[in-house]
Amino acid sequence: MNVQFACNAPEAVTRDFGRPKCPRCGSVLLIAEVSEFNLRGCIRHIWSCDDCAHEFVTSITL
Ligand SMILES: [Zn+2]
Repeated sequence: MNVQFACNAPEAVTRDFGRPKCPRCGSVLLIAEVSEFNLRGCIRHIWSCDDCAHEFVTSITL
């Protein structure tokens, strides 16, 4: 096992891991400002971009 090789792989660090990108500037967002769950089985995340301050909402139905 080559630990140094794993630590030198920049693409592994820069992957977005499924995080949403800002629809205005394309910046990857890491943490939702607000997360809400309702009893109909829907999770709503409200995001605010650190780079351009644009806010948008994503939702997931369970
Ligand atoms: Zn943005």
